[in-house]
Amino acid sequence: MTIDYPDLYIRGGWARPSGDATIPVISPTTEQHIGSVPEGTDTDIDDAVDAARTALTEWASWSAAQRAEVLGRFADELESRAEDTATRVSSQNGMPITLARQFEGGFPPVLLRYYGEMAAKQEDEIRPGMLGGSTLVTRSPIGVVGAIVPWNVPQAITFLKLAPALAAGCTVVLKPSPETVLDAFLMAEAAIAAGLPAGVLNIVPGGRDLGAYLVAHPGIDKVSFTGSTTAGRAIGRTCGELLRPVTLELGGKSAAVILDDADLAANLESFYAATLLNNGQICWLGTRVLAPRSRYAEIVDTITDLAKGLTVGDPLSDATQMGPLVSARQRHRVESYIEKGKSDGGRVTTGGRRPDNTTHGWFVEPTVFADVDTGHTIAQEEIFGPVLSVIPYTDEAEAIAIANHSDYGLGGSIWTADPDRGAQFARGVASGTVGINGYSNDPTAPFGGIKSSGLGRELGPEGLASYQQLKSIYLDVR
Ligand code: NAD
Repeated sequence: MTIDYPDLYIRGGWARPSGDATIPVISPTTEQHIGSVPEGTDTDIDDAVDAARTALTEWASWSAAQRAEVLGRFADELESRAEDTATRVSSQNGMPITLARQFEGGFPPVLLRYYGEMAAKQEDEIRPGMLGGSTLVTRSPIGVVGAIVPWNVPQAITFLKLAPALAAGCTVVLKPSPETVLDAFLMAEAAIAAGLPAGVLNIVPGGRDLGAYLVAHPGIDKVSFTGSTTAGRAIGRTCGELLRPVTLELGGKSAAVILDDADLAANLESFYAATLLNNGQICWLGTRVLAPRSRYAEIVDTITDLAKGLTVGDPLSDATQMGPLVSARQRHRVESYIEKGKSDGGRVTTGGRRPDNTTHGWFVEPTVFADVDTGHTIAQEEIFGPVLSVIPYTDEAEAIAIANHSDYGLGGSIWTADPDRGAQFARGVASGTVGINGYSNDPTAPFGGIKSSGLGRELGPEGLASYQQLKSIYLDVR
């Protein structure tokens, strides 16, 4: 049975699309058609932005506590659909179901409650002045948000934007990625069941051109984008010209630095999560593994055994650790990088091919390259697949230099028996986030990149602040 939606979610209910094109959803595991949604047009975006603008006045006028109550109901409705959400995501993008339950089913309700409560606790500030008098500092919603998300972790990433934006009193037009639309439409069902007021959230799926149209739309006050650096630059150009606030969460090529005292074998589960999670399709993964020359052979063997031992297969099976890549195009991209890695002189220690036991599905074996130089293409460009490059270093100074030899700066991890040493090393890593002996985003801590990995931060109080406008009202002016 396929899942097919005939309408778009606009103005709090199902709205007839203006065009008749549809977006087909193909399973990356079976290569079968599993559903469809209408493909949005510019006219649908106009309609959705109009709905969001109309809703803004009232939603913004509610107290944050009233909004938090609605967001709590939205969280409850999402929670009751969490297993369905996880299944839809895994079926569309190949994410192992155990991870989809945690990230995609689990994370959105947590974020809605977290930001609902945070906004409800905020108060206007009266700041004593230096020149006599005082200033009343108020926060108001930034307005209508255009949110554009990728396919790799579609629900969690959507709620990194939706939860703080809605809590702040903004309204949103969301454009999901064409690969992952069925989870977005399930979210619309949850929004309807929760009684989210009409127009507060609107969902119009489509591709790059529709995204570009939304970004430049005169009715949008802020753009929040997660996706590739190439698209981020284009969006940044448009927003720069319009002086439109924008948050850009872009690509990565992070370093997992193994210090000479690390007991990697004791931390294999965490190392897998920090380097190969979600079939290698997460922006912050540490896909450049830096290993000390004094222990290079042993570390390459440990990582090779880890990759070899992963269970590759149906993402809907609880036992699966590595599912297929999202699309044939993505597999082609990953395979091209594997060929480039070989021709540049890297040595494949495991993987590098399609698994023997699969007749369909866009699978690539977990792949480890040894003898990679930091200048090699596979050590510099984002592959977005299960491919690790193990790069040797001589001392800590060289490790820092290699870790920072990247256009990107998003995630990373340090592996060591001495967490204080790890934290000290992490201070020198040019990146927005770094984990010690693991990597996991905490909702309370700001997340985002530097250099080509983006602009701005999500999560934590900073995530809420990026949807708020500050105003200073000078009181008792003398
Ligand atoms: P992508 O940039 O191709 O697409 C992302 C979204 O943007 C999609 O919805 C797409 O339709 C839309 N889009 C593409 N070009 C656009 C344009 N010019 N204007 C407006 N919208 C546009 O990325 P992808 O392949 O879907 O996702 C993978 C990329 O996302 C990787 O580079 C990954 O590192 C990055 N990513 C970053 C983060 C982060 O938090 N930094 C998180 C997840 C993924």
